[in-house]
Amino acid sequence: MALSGVEIFKLLPKTNCKKCGAPTCLAFAMKLAQRQASIDSCPDVSEEAKQKLGEASAPPIRPITLGAGDKAVKMGEETVLFRHDKKFVNPCAFAVEVKDTLSEDEIAKLCQQVIESEIDRVGQKLRVDAIMISNVSGDAGKLEAAAKVVAAKAAVVPVIISTTNPQAAEAAVKLFSDKKPIIYGANASNVEAMAAVAKANKATLGIAANGLDELSDLTEKVKGLGVEDMVIDSGARRAKDIIAHNTLIRRAAIKKGVKSVGYPVINFMQHGDSLVEGLLASVGIAKYASIIVVSSIEKWKNLALFTLRQNIYTDPQVPMQVEQKIYNIGEPTPESPLFITTNFSLTYFIVSGEIENSKVASRLAVMDCEGLSVLTAWAAGKFTASKIAQFIQDSGVEKDVANKELILPGYVAILSGAVEEKLPGWKITVGPREANAIPTFLKTR
Ligand code: SF4
Repeated sequence: MALSGVEIFKLLPKTNCKKCGAPTCLAFAMKLAQRQASIDSCPDVSEEAKQKLGEASAPPIRPITLGAGDKAVKMGEETVLFRHDKKFVNPCAFAVEVKDTLSEDEIAKLCQQVIESEIDRVGQKLRVDAIMISNVSGDAGKLEAAAKVVAAKAAVVPVIISTTNPQAAEAAVKLFSDKKPIIYGANASNVEAMAAVAKANKATLGIAANGLDELSDLTEKVKGLGVEDMVIDSGARRAKDIIAHNTLIRRAAIKKGVKSVGYPVINFMQHGDSLVEGLLASVGIAKYASIIVVSSIEKWKNLALFTLRQNIYTDPQVPMQVEQKIYNIGEPTPESPLFITTNFSLTYFIVSGEIENSKVASRLAVMDCEGLSVLTAWAAGKFTASKIAQFIQDSGVEKDVANKELILPGYVAILSGAVEEKLPGWKITVGPREANAIPTFLKTR
């Protein structure tokens, strides 16, 4: 269980020496209780207190890494139930199932789809993160053969091996020995053998339980067998059970300090109907899944799920914004158009993307409006004629442009006269309201 500020205070030296940066030991204790400081900042704390505090301050959901290198996925470490309390830490990973009954060509094709699934959205790289090789054939040789294709065709992609057969798991996991794979499929009848395979191969063990009570018993047992890294599946497959079980698990781990369910949750969303699969996956994203397994990769589904995941795992207390400056798009000349917009990330990436699509080299003046979009910034008095004029003058862009024309977003056409007054010698043009009209706007000029 987490310790209160006062309980932590009792373990500190109480000298108020300020070496930790806090004015008093009590203030430091309060910061520790809110997970805003690390005990390492106090040089005088005793080893015994350090150990007690270390145990108490460990995240209620155990941190787990799947895979290695650039594409490794971190999961767990969550500390809250609601993201308005504090941001969610590690976005859930998407894994696509590769059945060992598929042909070598079909497996290679799926591997390629996973590699090509990466997109850039609002400056972040989003992708299908992992491959789950599943032993649906029940044949250990087929699982190993499928694993060999995945190891060859998608060497950098993190892997989950799904089987209830410890011998099959052993043969397949060896192909990914230095890549922190997950072996999923430890249940009441094979748990000792599966734990032994996971332990010998330094793999994370996926617990396949039948209900929450069994889940808790299995994780205790696995821990007793010397395996600390686990991901957990309560057996929930329908949307209402996924919501109920995932919520009970998260609440028990965070609010009650129940260690036996303090692990990342893996949910299986495979469904013959892609739309239903997408809906199930969205339930998992919204409600605490750390890994979501889907059956196929489709661009429309990826885009919907990536966007939802990105929104849920964005810190709602910190606006997404880009730096205020003049951005060159392509290689602008003095005759190139000059646009202006606000520094809300989504606005910047959409506007700059559409200017790029137009293939007309341009300048984009991005003004700091505290991460607000154009209309919101205008309504909040942050994107006004005076502020725009001041920004353009201070930016020094005037020396780079021949015709001194500034293109305003169409939504603030109302500002054009006032900006012209504040920027003597400049021509103010009203651009399109929607960014997707920018290429046509540029072509018809
Ligand atoms: Fe107290 Fe340690 Fe901070 Fe000094 S460094 S004020 S002893 S918590």
